[in-house]
Amino acid sequence: MLARALRLLRDFADGKEFKSFFTFIIQYQQKGYGKMEKYVCSICGYVYDPAAGDKEGNIPPGVPFDKLPDEWVCPICGAGKEEFNPD
Ligand SMILES: [Zn+2]
Repeated sequence: MLARALRLLRDFADGKEFKSFFTFIIQYQQKGYGKMEKYVCSICGYVYDPAAGDKEGNIPPGVPFDKLPDEWVCPICGAGKEEFNPD
C-alpha cells in the first residue's frame, strides 16, 4: 500500500520535487521531531502527548516530556513527572 502510494507520488512529481520530499523527511527526523515519545501516568493512565502539549499546564504543543518543567504534574491526578513512563 505504502509502496504503491510512493510510486504514484514519484510518477506525479518530477525528480527534483521527489528528492526534496526525502530531504525534508530526513531533516525532520534529524531535528528529533520523530523521536517525541508519549508518556503515560502510572497512577491514572493519562497520556502526555508532546504533539498536543498540555493546555491545563500551559505547555504548548511540541514540548518533549523531558523538556517539561520539573514542577509539572499530571493534569488529571497531580502525580509528578517521576510517576510517568514511556508509552
Ligand atoms: Zn495521573
